[in-house]
Amino acid sequence: MLTSGKVRNPYEVLELPSNATPEEIRAAFRRLGAKHHPDRHQDSSTAHARFKEINAAYQILNDPKKRAAFDRFGSVAFQPGGNAGFDGVGLDTVVADLLRAMGLGRSDGTVSLDLELTFTEAAEGCTKEVHYERIDHCRICDGSAAAAGATTTTCTACGGKGRVRFREGLLSLLSERPCSKCRGSGRMPSRPCAACEGRGLTKLPHSVNVAIPPAVDNGSLQSVARAGHRLIPNGKHGKLDVTVKVLPHPFFSRSGDDVLCRVPVSIVTAAVGGQVEIPTLSGKIKLSVPAATQPGSVLRVRGKGLAHKLRSGKGDQLVEIVVEVPNALSERARQLLVELGEELSRNQNVEPQQRSFMDKLRQLFD
Ligand SMILES: [Zn+2]
Ligand SMILES: [Zn+2]
Repeated sequence: MLTSGKVRNPYEVLELPSNATPEEIRAAFRRLGAKHHPDRHQDSSTAHARFKEINAAYQILNDPKKRAAFDRFGSVAFQPGGNAGFDGVGLDTVVADLLRAMGLGRSDGTVSLDLELTFTEAAEGCTKEVHYERIDHCRICDGSAAAAGATTTTCTACGGKGRVRFREGLLSLLSERPCSKCRGSGRMPSRPCAACEGRGLTKLPHSVNVAIPPAVDNGSLQSVARAGHRLIPNGKHGKLDVTVKVLPHPFFSRSGDDVLCRVPVSIVTAAVGGQVEIPTLSGKIKLSVPAATQPGSVLRVRGKGLAHKLRSGKGDQLVEIVVEVPNALSERARQLLVELGEELSRNQNVEPQQRSFMDKLRQLFD
C-alpha cells in the first residue's frame, strides 16, 4: 500500500507502454526491483518508497483482473483509504462492488449492517428504521449510463447480451459474468452520463424498516430482501443483512428465555420477610421476599421473561437475592444487633449452617 493519497499510474511506475505484454511487465519489475532494492540502499527512505511503489505497480499489472480493473477505472480502482476489499487494495466502494459484480471478486449485492438494540427492544421486538447507502440507478440517467440526448448502441464487447463467457481455474471451466464494458446492460451510450461517469449506477442514501421479532438473540441476523445494492443496471437488488447487537442493560441479563437480575435486600427483610420493588421488562412490580431468605437464593417470577420462540407463553424472571450487611452502624443499631446476636445464640436451631460448621470444627480439633 502506498502512503500517498493517490496511486501512481502503474505503467508509468514500471516505465511501460499500456499495451505491455506479461513478459515485458515481469522484465521491467525484475530490472527496476533489483535497481531499487532496499538491500542496496539501506539508508535511503526514498529508495524504500520507490521499491514499494514498483512492487505495488507490479501487483496490479501482473494480475489480469487487477490490470483490467485499472485499465477500466484508472487509479480510482486502487485508491487507498476506500473499502479495502479487493485483495487488500484500497478501493472506492462503488467501484469495488461493481468489480465484484463483474466477476472480479464476488458479491451478490448484499449490504451488511450492525443494528444496536436496547435490551428491551430485543426482548419485546420492534421495528427500526435503518439508514445506509446502497448502489442503485443513477438518478440523472436512471441507469441508462447515457448523457441526456445521447443515443445508445449495442455493446460490441458482448454483442448486446450483457454477459461474456470466460475460462477460469486450472480446469479452464467455462463461466459467465456480466460484461465489464457495458456493465451487463448490453448497450453503450454515445456520450456517457457525467453524474455517474457512465456507470449507470451510483451510491445513494436509502432507508428501510427492519422488523425485529421478540426475543431476538445478540448476534442474530435479520435479512430484508431487495434492500441491498443493485450492481447491474436494471438488475435485481441484493439483500440487506442486519446483525443485531444487544446493548447491556443496567439490571437485566438473559439466559435463554429467562431474564436474570440481582436485587439487594436488607438483612432484616431477608430474615423477617417483606416486599421489595423490582424492575421487570413491563415495569416495576412488588416482589414478596419470604422470611429466612438466604443470600444468593433465587426467586422466580413467572411469565416476566421473554417470549418463547417455538411455543406460546413467556420465560420467567429469576431474581437473585443479594443480602446487604450495613456498612455503618449507629450506636443504637450496633447495640440492638449485639443483643440480637445474644438472643439468636440461645437457640442454635435458627442458624443451622453455623451449627453444622461448629459441630464439624469440634470433631476436627476437640
Ligand atoms: Zn448517470
Ligand atoms: Zn457488453
